[in-house]
Amino acid sequence: MKVGVAMQDIMGLLRKGISELETYVPGKSLEEVQAELGLTEITGMAFNENPCGPSPKALAAIERELKNVHLYPEGSCTALRRRMSQLLGIDEDMITISNGADNAILLVGSAFISEGEEVIMADPTFSVYKTVSKIMGGRPISVKVKNHVHDLEGMRKRIGDRTKLVFVCNPNNPTGTIVDRHELDGFLSQVPEKVVVVLDEAYIEFVSEPAYPTGIDYAKQGYNVVSLRTFSKLYGLAGMRVGYAVGRSDLIGALNKVREPFPVSRLAQAAALGALDDEAFRERVLIHNREAKAYLCKEFEQMGLSYVPSHTNFVFVDLKKDSREVSQSLLKEGIIIRPGHLWDFPSFARVTVGTMEDNRRFVSALKRIL
Ligand SMILES: *Cc1c(COP(=O)(O)O)cnc(C)c1O
Repeated sequence: MKVGVAMQDIMGLLRKGISELETYVPGKSLEEVQAELGLTEITGMAFNENPCGPSPKALAAIERELKNVHLYPEGSCTALRRRMSQLLGIDEDMITISNGADNAILLVGSAFISEGEEVIMADPTFSVYKTVSKIMGGRPISVKVKNHVHDLEGMRKRIGDRTKLVFVCNPNNPTGTIVDRHELDGFLSQVPEKVVVVLDEAYIEFVSEPAYPTGIDYAKQGYNVVSLRTFSKLYGLAGMRVGYAVGRSDLIGALNKVREPFPVSRLAQAAALGALDDEAFRERVLIHNREAKAYLCKEFEQMGLSYVPSHTNFVFVDLKKDSREVSQSLLKEGIIIRPGHLWDFPSFARVTVGTMEDNRRFVSALKRIL
């Protein structure tokens, strides 16, 4: 056998549909920008990370766990699941912990999507739903948002015999909007029983709207609903990779069939438990986010820019110019935002709420550039 196989041969060996997939391009990391520009100060406002850093209690828990990293972690994350089940008031078998919520999306896809089945989602929304659908040989169907909000009625109309999953990103990334309880009740009551609805609630903790519906309530009522959440945003643990899925125990059991044996590292499990203990940290993050988001929005208004009112830690703003050019100019000053052409909103950008120093740097650079 010859050593080294030509590229086109490998493509031919891939499972159907995989060769056409594009590799996920996350946007430049802080480290990349730092290295390319030789800058020391980088303002990262592109990934919806927590500008307050990790909780000190999470860090202490990681340190305590360091000496055990020669041992495999506990595969089913018993301690963390027990803790979460107490916090959420549900049975432990209604929760599975994943290597970030991204990994939970893959679990849902692996468990439910068969070749040729349809997966309905909004446009624009979180890109991983489409990628996972394609990996599994499913057919993603995108339904345009209306006024930046999920068009649930339009999505329901697209449900057919081949539909298996519906993703509702609530609040939606990148628009920051929510669907309310009334809308979701109406939608779920019309979804056929053979369809599973995935509510991606990565930003749930930032929502203060009383009419916001939680996936756990629907799961408790017995709906075919899986709720996805993460420690990456409010809890400030994006680099640790911990997320979880909540749903009826039979649905979660299905996800457990396809998960890896040890999906969540020892350090990640310890960090999540530590962060759960730090109520004061979470309060601080929420207060900061509210105030800093209000600052950004006020500045946008003064610049004559419109934005979508956001229930999250980011703002979708209309820069009224090619946002790719604007973000290139910002990048030269070491400020990273997410340009909207990625979602076919070329004049918009998604801007993560940063520290007040980040926000001021961004605002003053943006004023100069515009
Ligand atoms: C950030 C994000 C995730 C992924 O979170 P991880 O736990 O870091 O994988 C999932 N869904 C949405 C909508 C997000 O914005």
